[in-house]
Amino acid sequence: EGKIVTIGEILVEIMATTAGNGFLEPQPLIGPFPSGAPAIFIDQVGKLGHPAGIVAAVGDDDFGTLNLERLKQDGVDVSAVAIHPGAATGSAFVRYRPDGGRAFVYNMRDSAVGRIAATPEAGTLLAAAGHLHVMGSGLPVPAIAGMVRSTLPALKARGGTVSFDPNIRREMMRDESGRAIFHSVLSVTDLFLPSGEELSLFSDEIDEAKAIAALLDAGVKEIVLKRGEAGASHFDRNGRTDMPGFVVAEVDPTGAGDCFGATFLVARRLGKSVLEALRYANAAGARTVTVQGPMEGSSSFADLDRFIAQTSVRT
Ligand code: ADP
Repeated sequence: EGKIVTIGEILVEIMATTAGNGFLEPQPLIGPFPSGAPAIFIDQVGKLGHPAGIVAAVGDDDFGTLNLERLKQDGVDVSAVAIHPGAATGSAFVRYRPDGGRAFVYNMRDSAVGRIAATPEAGTLLAAAGHLHVMGSGLPVPAIAGMVRSTLPALKARGGTVSFDPNIRREMMRDESGRAIFHSVLSVTDLFLPSGEELSLFSDEIDEAKAIAALLDAGVKEIVLKRGEAGASHFDRNGRTDMPGFVVAEVDPTGAGDCFGATFLVARRLGKSVLEALRYANAAGARTVTVQGPMEGSSSFADLDRFIAQTSVRT
């Protein structure tokens, strides 16, 4: 079986440690932590011992090195991560607002993310992939959309599979070309991984059950709806399976959905049942939120087994 491969942004995250006056005053910060949704996802795949690779771009700087070292350490193939001496690795500064929500300051506009391109190394990795994980946040980037479009037909033709985490904001679905690529990816998606409100961006149906039915009718094979602390629900032609979340103290929600998705996917590829895969995925999501830093709570199967044995589920 081939690698699980994804395409997209690598950056670092730096966090405020107080929920005071935001970044308007000096304060202790924590980080840099390796980050970027596709990077978090693929790192978790590697951590579970499954072959993994990512197409990305970083600058020739400490933030890039930090990410590359982490991914390599966790077993991810980084041969298709281009290092651009002329661009900096992107960064995101995050803080909690007093209401518990998060606010970001992004340093991405002229960062190395914009240099992601269909290099020969990317071509080699994608041509041998057994599975492509598509992140919706990357699809508005023409180079990423182009690679996704050119990879999908051959991948499907050789029996490969596709997962899709929409990870989008409503604005991305406003224009015609945005909607077109989202729907073309959806039409070849084996595993769709929306969280809560994202479901409504793909369907005219307000009702959850009807939106799910419409997606299954459109050809999506499996849907796993992420419900934060409440856990997750799985849907396919055979019906619906719910799994409650684990009870943990949340300190940093970033990365939960990506670690969840990676874990569900790998567990299923290893032949685990839907129930087992949901339990592992909920455990991976829950562990992620208990530590600061998007990748700092990533999990091996041994970590997950230990966590599941020791932690109660929400009732
Ligand atoms: P996303 O990060 O994509 O928005 P969620 O917030 O739904 O997705 O989180 C993904 C998964 O992580 C959830 O389905 C759940 O399994 C787990 N999770 C997230 N937040 C918590 C929490 N506070 N307590 C327990 N599990 C959580």
